Amino acid sequence: MEVRVRFAPSPTGYLHVGGARTALYNWLLARRHGGSFILRIEDTDISRSTEEAIQAIMEDLRWLGLDWDEGPEVGGKHFPYRQTGRYALYRDAAMRLLREGKAYPCFCEPEELAERRREALRQGRSPMYDRRCLALPEREKEARMRQGIPYALRFLVPEGEVTFTDLVRGEISFRNRDIEDFVLLRSDGSATYNLAVVVDDLEMEITHVVRGDDHLSNTPKQILLYRALGAEPPAFAHLPMIVARDGRPLSKRHGDVSVGSFREKGYLPEAMVNFLALLGWSLDDSTTIMDRTTLVENFSLERVSSKPAVWDEDKLLWMNSQYIMALDDRELAGRIFPFLVREGLVEESDAAARELLVKAAPLIRERIKLLADAVHLVRFLFQEVEIEEDARQVLEEEAAEPVLREAGKALLELKEFKAPQIEGTLRAMADRLGLKPRQAFQPLRVAITGRKVSPPLFESMELVGRERCLQRIARALEAL
Ligand code: GLU
Repeated sequence: MEVRVRFAPSPTGYLHVGGARTALYNWLLARRHGGSFILRIEDTDISRSTEEAIQAIMEDLRWLGLDWDEGPEVGGKHFPYRQTGRYALYRDAAMRLLREGKAYPCFCEPEELAERRREALRQGRSPMYDRRCLALPEREKEARMRQGIPYALRFLVPEGEVTFTDLVRGEISFRNRDIEDFVLLRSDGSATYNLAVVVDDLEMEITHVVRGDDHLSNTPKQILLYRALGAEPPAFAHLPMIVARDGRPLSKRHGDVSVGSFREKGYLPEAMVNFLALLGWSLDDSTTIMDRTTLVENFSLERVSSKPAVWDEDKLLWMNSQYIMALDDRELAGRIFPFLVREGLVEESDAAARELLVKAAPLIRERIKLLADAVHLVRFLFQEVEIEEDARQVLEEEAAEPVLREAGKALLELKEFKAPQIEGTLRAMADRLGLKPRQAFQPLRVAITGRKVSPPLFESMELVGRERCLQRIARALEAL
């Protein structure tokens, strides 16, 4: 049997990290078993769904490398992969249930229902729908339908209980008497989530429903629907909740948790994928850094924990630095370049700037945890320097003037403007002036990079080039 799984986002906002983890686990399961990963857009909530959100979700999935085999833009035999294009299917299924006596029309008005719910709660009774319309005589129901009185279609929950084996949480039972006769079709003809999702998962031949455990309470309803439609339900796996370190479910209150915000801060998609994979799953008790191939080869639902997964951003940051360290110069430069473009430091098409960044890569690799950290470290290579506020005091020190003067001369005389020669001549200069290396080099660092902290000085100077170094030293002297 082919494994067919789906990620089914509601495009009411950006993809957040919880959704990304769900998508990743589905994708890994599909890739592990040579199956299909389907993207389905659940846009039935028309007032909150946007085209922009759909595009953004797809962009984030692509950034994470989670390609889909069927879905928007790639197509597939169950087209369309947007619920707004599938209404007829939902309606057919609902009407079939009505004909078979497994669903019934409900004429109750929303305000009435709300009032009865409040009243029930006041009296300490269950607020579930009281089946008032089920009790209507057949003639009455037909008459009202004929008169065109709007009605919703409710599912008639049968007696008994629903028991299923969740692939993460084990056996779970729900008593049907705790399940309300939920609405399948609203009075405006639109399908509810539970109907649409079951019809789609059936029609798309989904074998495993892997989703967040916030959907657990929907599962018994969906299983009842599968059975009423004469179908076997798929396997279910409910992923553990993601909590912040304060133990509360991860949410906006803990900062921006959209995938896009992590991309913008300069996290690498491979670090993100590795980190998300470990939010509820583990390879063993010790391995942390795993590439995509290792994940695909080893992922299994059996090793998904049912305990809440703790979101630890320090760990993500550390992982990101590990992935950055593993990139070669050209690759690292290629990842950083768009951040320089975004800051307006370079033009997208500037090939010379790209090459310069490749040369700078070894100088910054171990000094950044996020790609965006590189911007301030390499700014001096691409822009005239503005000396930063807190670096000015370095130039006010007594040693600054003789150092800048002497260094200017020494550098001018150098045959080769390469880091080892620069270092040699500047160390000799420090000796001549009777200064400690740090005292001698710090004013130069500030003059040339504008900052107290920079990549290694001599290598940086080589990249800046003799002419620009001398100009910067001269400018710093003038400013004294
Ligand atoms: N559209 C639902 C959501 O975004 C997912 C439904 C499901 O996975 O069954 O929460």
